[in-house]
Amino acid sequence: MSNPFRALPSITQLLEHPILVAARDQHSSDAITAAARAEVEALRTALAAGTSPNLDLAAAAERVASRLASAAVPAIRTVINATGIVLHTNLGRSPLHEDAARAAYEAGRSYLNLELDLTTGIRSSRQDAVRAGIRAITGAEAATAVNNCAAATVIVLRALATQREVIVSRGQLIEIGGSFRIPDIMAVSGATLREVGTTNITRLADYEAAIGPNTAAIMRVHTSNYRVRGFTKAVELPELVLLGKKHNLPVIDDAGSGQAVDLAPFGLQGEPLVSAGIAAGANLVLFSGDKLLGGPQAGIIAGKANHIARIERDPLMRAFRLDKMTLAALEATLRLYRDPAKALREIPTLRMLTTPPEELQRRSEAFAERLRTIPGVTVEVRNDVAYVGGGSLPDVAVPTVVLAVTVVGLSEAELAARLRTGTPAVVGRVQEGKLLLDLRAVFPRQEDELAGAIQKTSEG
Ligand SMILES: *Cc1c(COP(=O)(O)O)cnc(C)c1O
Repeated sequence: MSNPFRALPSITQLLEHPILVAARDQHSSDAITAAARAEVEALRTALAAGTSPNLDLAAAAERVASRLASAAVPAIRTVINATGIVLHTNLGRSPLHEDAARAAYEAGRSYLNLELDLTTGIRSSRQDAVRAGIRAITGAEAATAVNNCAAATVIVLRALATQREVIVSRGQLIEIGGSFRIPDIMAVSGATLREVGTTNITRLADYEAAIGPNTAAIMRVHTSNYRVRGFTKAVELPELVLLGKKHNLPVIDDAGSGQAVDLAPFGLQGEPLVSAGIAAGANLVLFSGDKLLGGPQAGIIAGKANHIARIERDPLMRAFRLDKMTLAALEATLRLYRDPAKALREIPTLRMLTTPPEELQRRSEAFAERLRTIPGVTVEVRNDVAYVGGGSLPDVAVPTVVLAVTVVGLSEAELAARLRTGTPAVVGRVQEGKLLLDLRAVFPRQEDELAGAIQKTSEG
């Protein structure tokens, strides 16, 4: 029997093939050689595994060319979010307002007064850029910001409670996803978790009984991504604040989602307002920048000036501080809240979450009509529900409108996969044998691309 490895194309043969000679216009010779090597290696592995790959030279050269093409596509790219989940953590949570995106872009491509007071010529703090905006939405006397709410929790606990106890209700020992679990965060920060109460019932007396000489703080954690229902009792923040005052202990409120304008009138009830914790007298309130606030990833810390100063002196501040682009985007986002009506209207996260069902219906009907002109595509407009995502409002099913799309000759899984791997990538929901596309989190400017992507799947 002949040695099948002899039939492998050589690197030289591949490099001289006209397809790869033509590729030299667009790719460096190093890149072409590397792609050719990878292809020959893949063929060798396939042969060794006993399969019979196509060893034809032209076919192999084509595959090298497609390796080059896919290597040229950035790993991170735009996705059209047709899931209806506005705060989709896997899709980057909040898309920025144009002002915020532009601010980040300008900060990225220029020098800026990041840590320089231009009036005095003296070094300043980068945090100054966002303090006023955070104070305005929270009502706090002082504020700072770090990379995310997880980092905010760590640095707050370190600054206030290293080697001492922090009291938390057992009903609030959350896991946010990834590896954010309150007990683990507590351990990392050097504070000792003092659990009180039970999963469903925690009383003020439970907190009080746990207070001792080694207690550093009382913490309330908003149960962002779950709710404890039924026979329950939790102690509200104002009561915890009174208890804290009585024992001279700071109260920390991990509010999570960062709701700065009231979304309850839009049927989105259950997330705390970022001003509520401060109004209730909490010493520190923590929340994310990229959940309901609608800004960049950040962890915002608002509260008493002495605590904020202590947090900023912690060596971890250097490791957790925001970069210039994020700071610029956060400042711009906070600026939009000077006019809450404008914030609701213009911040993408808020606009998408508060889109009235009638408007979504109209938009979906019009888009469905457009898709129906593509041969092989059928579309049905249906009512459905969507969730907010990002660990916010876990029990609020938001009424929404979806397009149930089918393309002749494609299963729903194939259709979903083609859309996901296309350019631009489109992510929808597969449910009961249909691909569902929700326009809620699709920008109107993306509709042409979305229609184009669906047309492409129908062309095979
Ligand atoms: C989301 C959330 C966090 C984590 O915030 P990140 O900004 O994602 O790090 C922490 N605590 C609560 C209560 C949350 O809801």
